Amino acid sequence: MRSSLACTTLLIAAFAGVAPLRAADDPTALARAGTAALDARRFGDALAVFTKAAEKQPGDASLCFGAGVAAFMLGKNEVAQARFECALARDPAFLPAAEWLADLHYRAGRLADAISIYETAQQHSPKPQELQPQLDRWRKELALQSRFRDARSEHFVVLFEATADEPLAADVIRRLETAYRRIVSTLGVSPSQRITAVIYTRGQFDDVTRLADWSAAAYDGRIRVPVNEASREAGELDRILSHEFVHALVAQVGGRTVPAWMNEGLATVLEPAGSDDIEATLMHAGDRRARSRLPGSFVGLSRHDAELAYASSARAVRRLIERRGIDALVALLEDLGQGAPFARAFQQRLAMRYEDFSTSVMRDSF
Ligand SMILES: [Zn+2]
Repeated sequence: MRSSLACTTLLIAAFAGVAPLRAADDPTALARAGTAALDARRFGDALAVFTKAAEKQPGDASLCFGAGVAAFMLGKNEVAQARFECALARDPAFLPAAEWLADLHYRAGRLADAISIYETAQQHSPKPQELQPQLDRWRKELALQSRFRDARSEHFVVLFEATADEPLAADVIRRLETAYRRIVSTLGVSPSQRITAVIYTRGQFDDVTRLADWSAAAYDGRIRVPVNEASREAGELDRILSHEFVHALVAQVGGRTVPAWMNEGLATVLEPAGSDDIEATLMHAGDRRARSRLPGSFVGLSRHDAELAYASSARAVRRLIERRGIDALVALLEDLGQGAPFARAFQQRLAMRYEDFSTSVMRDSF
């Protein structure tokens, strides 16, 4: 996923050279305030300010885009879609709005819409070939998806290739519902929408996600699971499905600003067998003293580094639950979903500064 930094830089460029701050409701001043809020990851503030600015200056595509980015990060997908569409209606050549809108459609499983947005964007782009690789991958995935069927339960839709065995899909959906009951009862919150899971072969999964070979599954708006002989073992399949369900729940409660360590730590701690082996992983790591902060991202890590990152994240979350209670952690997620900046919400809900926690938990002194 592209970083918010890229969009912030773009917005700063859009507003550079304009007059300095004037009245608080001046669209230019509001746009600057919105850009600063995006930059500081205060997405709730950014959404409010850009929305107000766009009302005052309805022809400005970048104001709609700013509101769209903020809404996207908060997990407010319908608002984000409307704001990106507003930006493209005002300026059909506004490529970042097309890219973010297509990404939003893709994550919601609307692959044909994502493709259509890119095809239109190509017509307006001076460098249409730059969009071609992504377009090719999505067309290939759409062709694969056209061979899939679905099975449904109360809380899940499972997509599976028509030629694969139907009992597997039924088995996956049963395991997901079991994970749902256990985790919803543990956390005290439930997803507001039905969750989609897609079953792949390992080759299909690698093609679609292009993740590292240590990845057992993925969540990017849909749970994506490669099922092979090893993962068909009941324990392993339950672990994977439970882990990814937690990511889906976290996304619905906390939006897209939940730090990776908290998201992965929670998913690991809530696996059916728990996370008892993490201390051994950390003990044998050897180089853990070199690490002073919780991992910021898991993408691109080697298998070894990923194991350590999961273990240190799981320990951090486990310690928070032991010392502050799971309700405080859920309240923090809800604050993030409402647009609160992470550092402020962390301090309020967990009664300490994030920097202090991060340092002490990595030193094993929390
Ligand atoms: Zn995960």
